[in-house]
Amino acid sequence: MREGEHSAYRVPTGRPFLLGELYNKLPSVDDRMKHLPDPADPTEYEAIADALWDVFVTARNLAPVRSPTGCARHPGGPVDTEAPEGWGRCLLCNRNRRIGRPSVKKATNASTSLWAIPDPPYNHAALMAIRRTINHAVMELDYRSPDRAFHEVADLVHSAFIIARELSRPRSTGCQRHPGAPIDPTAAGGPQCIFCVGEERRRQLGPPTVTVRPSRPVPTVRPPVPRRWQQPLPPPM
Ligand SMILES: [Zn+2]
Ligand SMILES: [Zn+2]
Repeated sequence: MREGEHSAYRVPTGRPFLLGELYNKLPSVDDRMKHLPDPADPTEYEAIADALWDVFVTARNLAPVRSPTGCARHPGGPVDTEAPEGWGRCLLCNRNRRIGRPSVKKATNASTSLWAIPDPPYNHAALMAIRRTINHAVMELDYRSPDRAFHEVADLVHSAFIIARELSRPRSTGCQRHPGAPIDPTAAGGPQCIFCVGEERRRQLGPPTVTVRPSRPVPTVRPPVPRRWQQPLPPPM
């Protein structure tokens, strides 16, 4: 190859190192997610959420810097905190859009996160689905992948983190009398406070009765019958 024929492409500084870090961190979290029982305890999800955040930090550092406005023309501009549904977060661009549509209302739950937040429901199945997508996306990742691929991986890991974090919240029974009580997941009509379920049961069935089984009588030992050996009759003569 002659001088000047080299590709103009340069691997961004730090990318090989960070990619190695991503390949190191992801498999263990992935393994732990794969072996989570359904339903798992919130404390199990908490450990997963922590590990996923760690992976996300690496993925975010791998991706090109995302500007708070998400606008190519005004990356350092002011952020529109009342952006209407489906609009970007750039205040300058949104001001121009508002001039054309003055009646537009702000979105009911405008996301202020730079990174993707998945739509509910946040459950075990959703976490498993995103786990597979992450594995697929990371497998295709390489030094020369386009910026968009790195953004996608960071968004996916962030989504997984959000789901795991929601699942890690202590499940409240909503019981006024026993706040923080354990939950009976098998109660009729959905999970309920285990103490209230127990009280209700006792009310319906009465106090538990203990049946004392009489012990078996001691078997009588019969005295051994002396064995009599009979003399065989003499053969008839
Ligand atoms: Zn803009
Ligand atoms: Zn209760």
